[in-house]
Amino acid sequence: MTTAPLVVVGTGLAGWNLAREFRKLDKERALIVLSRDGGGFYSKPMLSNALAGKKTAATLIMKSAAQMAAELGATVHAHGEVEGIDVAASTLRLRRQGDQGSEGRIEAITYGDLVLALGADPIRLPLAGDAAAEVLSVNDVDDYARFAERIEGAKRVALLGAGLIGCEFANDLLARGIEPTVVDIADRPLGRLLPEAAAQWMRQRLEAAGVKFRFGAAVQAVDRAAQGLRLTLADGSAVEADVVLSAVGLRPRVALAQAAGLAVGRGIVVDRRLATSAPHVHAIGDCAEVQGLSLPFVLPLMAQARALAANLAGQTTDLVYPAMPVTVKTPASPTVVCPPPAGLAGTWQTQADEAGCAALFHDASGALRGFAVMGAATAQKQGLAARVPALLA
Ligand SMILES: Cc1cc2nc3c(=O)[nH]c(=O)nc-3n(C[C@H](O)[C@H](O)[C@H](O)COP(=O)(O)OP(=O)(O)OC[C@H]3O[C@@H](n4cnc5c(N)ncnc54)[C@H](O)[C@@H]3O)c2cc1C
Repeated sequence: MTTAPLVVVGTGLAGWNLAREFRKLDKERALIVLSRDGGGFYSKPMLSNALAGKKTAATLIMKSAAQMAAELGATVHAHGEVEGIDVAASTLRLRRQGDQGSEGRIEAITYGDLVLALGADPIRLPLAGDAAAEVLSVNDVDDYARFAERIEGAKRVALLGAGLIGCEFANDLLARGIEPTVVDIADRPLGRLLPEAAAQWMRQRLEAAGVKFRFGAAVQAVDRAAQGLRLTLADGSAVEADVVLSAVGLRPRVALAQAAGLAVGRGIVVDRRLATSAPHVHAIGDCAEVQGLSLPFVLPLMAQARALAANLAGQTTDLVYPAMPVTVKTPASPTVVCPPPAGLAGTWQTQADEAGCAALFHDASGALRGFAVMGAATAQKQGLAARVPALLA
């Protein structure tokens, strides 16, 4: 087994979970963790319910980079960007942040094994208007600090995208007395995760709580207005807001891997041992794609971290994905969803009443392959999850 350092790039949940799992199995090997952010440990899902929980960017960070370094016996280089990987030489090029805007110095780091845990970038809509650059997105704790500052004193926030993250932020903003308006080209919330009737159940609860929706609406421009900002929609109507937050999806960060000649699809392509197409280079988390699956959620990355740590410690282990339900953090409409595999033929059956909503997805053979449960029906989540077959067995 190689004894050259294990180098992990990225200090999100994927990078830190991998480092933790690896240290449980190997207490000796040198471990170097690199990040272009501050390197502190925080739980990204908390960003979209931090207002209700009265969290600030500072209190979201559970452990600093220095604490993580001490706990894991690791060397952590924060605020340094990995700019290139030479897979033939097993080295990477790190640009350390310079003082006061200077370029920073370049350092070469040699790895025995390399783990790319680079995450994903928020997708930016091509918007016109003189305030298009003011549209925010919240994909890490630094973004959250900017968002928290901007909503100070704000009364109206427009959210672009009625997916999971857009709806969570909308619900959370209510805790601060802010009026959220969610704009989406689709005709309902969580359109990619929920069948029609379940989506309507959620829509009604969120609307009753104070969320406004503009469905079937494409935002074309964001301009400065006399008071705040004005969003112009494709039908010519407008939405006024003090702050605009975009949550229209994420794109795995593949540029570094691509430039190094690694196979990439939607994400960095890895096999079930989390190995990329280059020797001793691995990828996990939002940046990775395993057998065509790129699942930007916590449970998949934790399964990946355990499997990869075992492989790095010399125990050959294939990644297994059990059914992995996602809890949607919309307290106005408590929801747990376990989406069926993309493209699988089958039908949804939904039962709903005032107290709850249960939607079950059966495939052509009649087997349960996915579900969404809301309100009182969330009590069924464990029983249902146990009946859904593993995504990767
Ligand atoms: C608001 C929000 C709410 C969410 N809620 C849920 C939820 O309720 N449940 C759920 O399962 N999932 C949720 N998710 C998704 C989940 O949080 C992510 O899947 C997960 O956190 C991704 O972790 P990661 O480590 O792969 O990526 P990231 O956390 O993005 O980490 C990437 C790391 O790579 C570093 N990096 C990138 N490029 C470089 C480079 N070139 N050089 C050096 N460092 C680099 C970054 O600085 C960062 O440290 C949510 C996501 C968001 C945005």
